[in-house]
Amino acid sequence: MVLLTRKIEFSASHRYDNPAFSAEENRRVFGKCNNPHGHGHNYILEVTVAGEPDPVTGMVLDLSELKKILEREVMARMDHRHLNLEVPELAGKIPTCENVARVIWDLLEPKITQGALHRVRLYESADLFADCYRDAANGNGSAGRLRG
Ligand SMILES: [Zn+2]
Repeated sequence: MVLLTRKIEFSASHRYDNPAFSAEENRRVFGKCNNPHGHGHNYILEVTVAGEPDPVTGMVLDLSELKKILEREVMARMDHRHLNLEVPELAGKIPTCENVARVIWDLLEPKITQGALHRVRLYESADLFADCYRDAANGNGSAGRLRG
């Protein structure tokens, strides 16, 4: 098996705010991330596909096809958007790095039909990223946060 990774970058804004919390609780839990008008990040997304290289093409999957999938599922949806307000898949969720990584997993996983989606890694900044892998229990992506 070979793991192939493609990297793309997009910019988006977000705000952390839990409507179940008081304003003070939101400020305490989320700090600056709760500032009322949100703030932006340049996200870096790494999408890793696992598979066997095709004996004829030498490729795990058609890279132009993967590019189209990323364009359609991620860039068109999230680039230069406000994640809280403009991405229906994130409605009612706090758009943390973990939650955005999981939403991206759920969008990409059914679309990748050559090889299999192995990992979605989303960098919110140079020192913070979340990884999402297949959750063996229910087939959905499972995200964890790592601070490097
Ligand atoms: Zn942020």
